[in-house]
Amino acid sequence: MNQSNKKYLEFMKGSGVNYFLQENPRNWYKNSQNIPLDVNKKQNVEKHIKIQELITKIKSHNSPLKNNAKNLVVYDGNLDAKVMFIGEAPGRDEDIQGIPFIGRAGQLLNKMLSAIELKRDEVYITNVVNWRPPDNRTPNDEEILEFLPFLQEQIDIVNPNFIFLLGGVAAKAVLSTPIALNKLRGSFHEYDSLKLNKKIKTIVSYHPAFLLRSPHYKRAAWEDLKMLQKKINE
Ligand code: URA
Repeated sequence: MNQSNKKYLEFMKGSGVNYFLQENPRNWYKNSQNIPLDVNKKQNVEKHIKIQELITKIKSHNSPLKNNAKNLVVYDGNLDAKVMFIGEAPGRDEDIQGIPFIGRAGQLLNKMLSAIELKRDEVYITNVVNWRPPDNRTPNDEEILEFLPFLQEQIDIVNPNFIFLLGGVAAKAVLSTPIALNKLRGSFHEYDSLKLNKKIKTIVSYHPAFLLRSPHYKRAAWEDLKMLQKKINE
């Protein structure tokens, strides 16, 4: 956790914000995102170990969101990816399968990737929050902050060259800004990793679920994808 997150959490705690306690015990080992090392992808073994340790840590973190969710959803794709895509939170299909962006929004994301000649197993895909919020509601600020250190740790492990933020929740979490998505679009931002001592070029765009509901925004999303593709090929 970086210092500003820590301070903010302390501030929240001081304001009386606390976690809810679970009512029933639960077997966390039943549903686990235990991803085997795919030797064909030639992924870095060290990163694989670190991410599995992180998954164990997220699983044992006592989040109220666990109570209603079926499966922990951490990541899909490649640990050596140059580009990291970050969404909001798992939906129904993701909760059932334990894999991010696997439902309708995920299918659109796959098409968006192939439009710029990226394959799903070349990129790293994750969400701000790792348990499905009840009824697919938007994660609140407390939940975003609660999971932010886990997201930051994933960024540090993967060490991507680019981050592509899908929707307002991801933009708010990663860029720590209240600025609206349509004002953040269209230019590069920087995510500053203290651990990597590196500023990562970051793009903000529309969430695929939003694009399914409002297809006329697809043109703008296409501009964002082309901006990424151009930078990758530079
Ligand atoms: N929406 C998200 O933000 N993430 C998913 O994994 C699926 C839908």
